[in-house]
Parts: sequence; C-alpha cells; structure tokens
Amino acid sequence: MTNWRSNVRTVVPYTPGEQPKTKVIKLNTNENPYPPSPLVGKVISCLDEDILRKYPDPSCDVLISALAKYHNVDKENVFVGVGSDDVLAMSFMTFFNSKDPIFFPDITYSFYDVWADLFRIPYETKALDDDFRIISEDYLKPCGGIVIPNPNAPTGVAEPVEFFEKIIAAHPECVVIIDEAYVDFGSVSCLDLTRKYDNVLVVRTFSKSRSMAGNRIGYAIGSKELIKFLSDCKFSFNSYTMDSITLAAGVASIQDDDYFRDRLADVMSTREWTKTQLSELGFTFPDSMSNFIFAKHNTMDANVIFAKLKEAGIYVRHFSNPPRIDNYLRISIGTDEEMQVLINELERITKGVN
Ligand SMILES: *Cc1c(COP(=O)(O)O)cnc(C)c1O
Repeated sequence: MTNWRSNVRTVVPYTPGEQPKTKVIKLNTNENPYPPSPLVGKVISCLDEDILRKYPDPSCDVLISALAKYHNVDKENVFVGVGSDDVLAMSFMTFFNSKDPIFFPDITYSFYDVWADLFRIPYETKALDDDFRIISEDYLKPCGGIVIPNPNAPTGVAEPVEFFEKIIAAHPECVVIIDEAYVDFGSVSCLDLTRKYDNVLVVRTFSKSRSMAGNRIGYAIGSKELIKFLSDCKFSFNSYTMDSITLAAGVASIQDDDYFRDRLADVMSTREWTKTQLSELGFTFPDSMSNFIFAKHNTMDANVIFAKLKEAGIYVRHFSNPPRIDNYLRISIGTDEEMQVLINELERITKGVN
C-alpha cells in the first residue's frame, strides 16, 4: 500500500522578505516609503460597514471600470486579483498548459519557479548576460509560454518595447506575460502591444508604485479572449477574490493621479541621488529603472554588509541563490531621510569608521 504522503502536492514555497515587528528602516521588500493618496484613507474611513454583510461584487466592476478608463481600454481587456501574485498565479494556471517548457530568466522574480513547480509546469531558465541583460535570442524558440518582468527583478534593468515585440511576434503558439510590477518608476510599458497581439498579457500591481501593498491589488491587461480565459479559471477557483473595501480603495488611488505622479517623481529622484552616493562608496550596480538598486561592493562581502546594516536597524534584501548574485544586496528606495541614514551607515561599514 502506498503512503498518503506520496499523493500530496508538495512544493517548496516562495520566501517573502521579512516584516519586522520593531521599528526599523525597511528597505527589503520594495514597498513605497510614502503613504497612498489621502483619498484612499478617506474612502476607507467613510465606508458604511453594512457593505461587509454582503458578498463583494464578483465582477469587481468599479475597479475594472476605473482601470479601463485610466488605460484607455475596454472593461473586457482588464482582469483584477489579490495582488499581482494572485493574477500571475492564475495566469500560469490558465495559460501555461503545454508539455513544452515555459521560459524565464535565471535571475528574476523568485516566485515564477514556485508556481511552475506547484502547477507542474515544465520550465527552462535563460541566463542573463554579464551585464544582467536579458538575451532576446534565447526566447525565440517555440515553447509553452514566457514570463519576463520589465524592469527585471531583482536587477532593476529595463528593456525597450521593441525587445518584447520581437519575442511576442515569434510566439503565436503561446502566451507571453510581461510582469510590469515596477514599470511606473521610469521605464516604458508594453501595454500598447496588447492591442496589436492577442497573446500578450501585461500584469501590474498597486503594491509598489501606488503604496498599497497592504491592500493586495493586482491586474492584467490583454486581449478580450485572453481575459475571458483568465476569468473562466478565476471563477472556477474563487469567485470573490477581492473584498469591497479594497475595491473602493483601488478606485480612489486611480482618481488621484497628481498625487500618484508626484510620489513617483519623489522616489525616482531619491533613487538617482542614492546611485551617486553608492558609486562614491565603491558600489557597482546595473542601472535601475525601478524602486530598488541591486548593488555589490568592490571589496566588502554582501553578507557582512547585510549583517551590519541589520544590526544598525536597516533591513535590505540578500538572495543567496543563485550563487551568481550572492554578493549583491537589493536596496529599496526609501525617503530622502532614510537613504541618508543608509548612506551614512554604509560609509561607516565600508570605510571601517566607528
Ligand atoms: C512585488 C512583485 C510582484 C507581486 O506584487 P503583489 O504585491 O503581489 O502585487 C510581482 N512581480 C514582481 C516582479 C514583483 O517584484
């Protein structure tokens, strides 16, 4: 007789960055250092709690309508979920059903291989080049699907739209997912390609650029046919993915576009300042178009810097896998004040000043 354990769907889960309970300078999970638009707080505090008695709208109409209007597409081109992790997981389940492997970079968002394992999707990773660039030629062979973040994580490196169009046009046999979690921080979106190609899905999140990681809002834009397939899978899994409060909060964020753009500009200007400071301290990094910098010091070990920063109450992210990136630290962009404290501390650590 077989043991029940042999029939369990086992998987090694994704490890999220630490959420410390004490007050620290938290630069480890790419959260936005600024609060969401004041409109979001207002909408949440004015909500009539009677809405909690009823199920939320399963079609998420208010949020889908607001997103469709904002991006100038039809409602049937938009899908929403509980953070982009939910949208991506649902997309893997819906679109990656081939016996051929799906392709994604070897250094990328470390949730892709977890979903592939969970859903038993075969995959092949493609090595980044020496400058952490994605090599488009590696993605031209027929395959079961493709997923690439743009900008890539944790490198922060962005590729132009033509780069993705070349890949998408080569793959009528599969769906290409572009994960634009960080696109608002200065790189160019592939949204326009969703009008031209029916096999491309662009995935976005409110967690980073809209300062709403705690609400869990993600969405996808694609051809009506893609979105219909995605919705069919979602409604076969869980009809009520998004709660009423979150739907209203998401709409409020979209309505306050000036606030959104001003905070993005703040983060980008702090990022550029941080790049200069890090260079002066002997760090090197690929040029980041996101709200983090992936940096390595020219003499000091990343593990050592990581531990000393933590001692000083500054949390950054360190990935020990794959080995090629184990000497890098991923540093999220905080406020100007937080980054000044970080730079002061790094100066002390790298120059051995006490
Ligand atoms: C943060 C992140 C996500 C997930 O974000 P959600 O909070 O689930 O919306 C997806 N992809 C990449 C590349 C990310 O960095």
